[in-house]
Amino acid sequence: MATEEAVLGEILRPIKGKLRLAVAAQTVSAIAGVVPFIAIAELGRVLLSDHADRSDRAWTITAVAVGALLVRLAFMLAAGALSHFADNELQSHIRRSLVARLARVPLGWFSERNSGTVKKAVQDDVDAMHHMIAHSILEMTSATVVPVVSLAYLFWVDWRMTLVTIAPLVVGLGLYSVTMAQMAKHLPDYDRAMGEINGSAVEFVQGVAVVKTFGQTHRAHQKFRDAADDFAAFFLSWVRSTVRSKAVAEMVLSPIAVLLAVVTGGAFLVTGGGLAGVDLLPFALLGVGLTAPVLALFYASYELRFAKAAAARVGDVLHAEELPVAREPLSPSGNHVSYQGVRFSYDGEKEALSGIDLDLAPGTVTALVGPSGSGKSTLATLLPRFGDVTGGSITIGGVDIRDIALDDLYRRVAFVFQDVRLTQTSVADNIRMARPDASREDVIAAARAACVHDVIEALPRGYDSVVGEDARFSGGQAQRVSIARAVLADTPIIVLDEAAAYADPQSEAEVQEALSGLTRGKIVLMIAHRLSTVVEADRIVVLENGELIESGTHAELVAREGRYARMWHAHERSTVWQPRRSDPDPAAARTGGTRR
Ligand code: ADP
Repeated sequence: MATEEAVLGEILRPIKGKLRLAVAAQTVSAIAGVVPFIAIAELGRVLLSDHADRSDRAWTITAVAVGALLVRLAFMLAAGALSHFADNELQSHIRRSLVARLARVPLGWFSERNSGTVKKAVQDDVDAMHHMIAHSILEMTSATVVPVVSLAYLFWVDWRMTLVTIAPLVVGLGLYSVTMAQMAKHLPDYDRAMGEINGSAVEFVQGVAVVKTFGQTHRAHQKFRDAADDFAAFFLSWVRSTVRSKAVAEMVLSPIAVLLAVVTGGAFLVTGGGLAGVDLLPFALLGVGLTAPVLALFYASYELRFAKAAAARVGDVLHAEELPVAREPLSPSGNHVSYQGVRFSYDGEKEALSGIDLDLAPGTVTALVGPSGSGKSTLATLLPRFGDVTGGSITIGGVDIRDIALDDLYRRVAFVFQDVRLTQTSVADNIRMARPDASREDVIAAARAACVHDVIEALPRGYDSVVGEDARFSGGQAQRVSIARAVLADTPIIVLDEAAAYADPQSEAEVQEALSGLTRGKIVLMIAHRLSTVVEADRIVVLENGELIESGTHAELVAREGRYARMWHAHERSTVWQPRRSDPDPAAARTGGTRR
């Protein structure tokens, strides 16, 4: 596995040239930034000397200082502009690459991740890298160049005074490292204590209704309070153990401490070491500026660590495995679907499907039933290639689905899932998703077929209302909008994940009616969660532990007295105790989705 460092290097590759130029410009600007300080020190030395051409020299130095300031300004602007251009270019490059890659990964990749992970990579992690590229790299350049140039000059003036000047720096950094090491030692304890406090806070908030109902507020509070007290006690002892050395380190690294060292060390050298008093000026001026860049380096290294972690996450998405596409796609003749010895495993070890043979003939409805985890969703989602079979094959019209071009495949297979996603555009565009060029009449016809036209008409701007703004739908209505989308797509094959439960009988009846509009005359593969909806299916397929154990019509399977018959009897017994729903024609409502 590539290290975070390597991933960051690879991500930065397209802008390497620009970044190098920016760093070069920043180096010039940092050197030019030290020059005026050197100039002031030199000015002092010249003016206090008894050279005959003091005045000329003073003017030359002043001119150099002013020139250096202008150079600094110009190069600083250039460096900033270059790094921001580079950052802009990289952000757009990464986002485009991410989106391009996301379009090619198998759909199953998304179901294993929540949208938060993808959003974090595309937005937050790219942003996290912005600070490093546009700012931290330049800050680190200055923080390195300024002390190096300053120290070189100071050594040239007087090496003994230079040692005196950097003494606080060495002591301060030593103390700082010790403090940091001490803090790092207790970091796992800190994380643990923080985890406990978070855990009890979440527990408290999630359970607040139950806690209040049962009058346990005091006890629940107490648990949270104990965790908070423990954390406070730990934090206090942790901070106490490092606070002294950290305070001393920061004090030693302060400009005042450096000035004190310069003045004290200087006094000794001036009185007994043959150093001219005016030679203290460069140390007083440049020495106090040495500590700030060193601390800046510390902070910039933090930024770098964040950026590396962000780059690693972006790298994960950029390297997500693509869905293989056929180089020379074949076009199926007809739409007969056939699963032959299909095996599938999510993790390469445990099989979610082990050798399924199944035919879906045109104009038939096949319902998949079986206990939760038996492989129904896996079997159904292999058809729109959420993942590829790990054994056997699935064909449409005699052609392996892996050999069909993806757009051809999606013109043949539509899927309607429980978990409906509407995008934040107009309702019409949401319905048009599969056919962006569909006319308004076609959209309305699809909405009518999906029994949602009246709902949309009642919205403030009708079909132009925007989802999430002035178009708000109940669960059942949103499902009908997604059904309208599939109606308009008009694919010959439909994979349907029937909802496990509806809010009320009315909305169930409406969704079932919409589904019957969608599935008429099509090849339908339905993941059935409730036996009441499968009775009229042409074929019921019973899965258990990834194996097909029975298949046939409802009547055949009930007569067989096997697994399905037991499930059906259990279902009937459970419904005897429930008052029947008040649909005018319950049978029609229940089986609408499977009628042709
Ligand atoms: P069903 O739809 O019948 O409830 P699934 O097809 O969802 O069953 O699951 C079949 C098996 O595959 C189960 O053992 C389940 O734990 C496993 N499984 C489903 N989805 C994933 C996934 N994304 N990663 C790993 N295992 C999975």
